[in-house]
Amino acid sequence: MIKSDFNEQLLNKKEAIEMAIFKCKNCGETKEGSCTPEKCPKCGAEGTMQKKETGCCSCKC
Ligand SMILES: [Zn+2]
Repeated sequence: MIKSDFNEQLLNKKEAIEMAIFKCKNCGETKEGSCTPEKCPKCGAEGTMQKKETGCCSCKC
């Protein structure tokens, strides 16, 4: 019961925020956000931030 409630909370939280990882194709900088950044926070290039598929963690397992 406790485990079920915990999973449900995780799902609700994920749906509410809808965070995604965006990666700059110019310099490789990654940024987490709810929408695509207009420009890269690191190199300043515009339109280079692309949504990156996320796995269970940063190791891409
Ligand atoms: Zn960049």
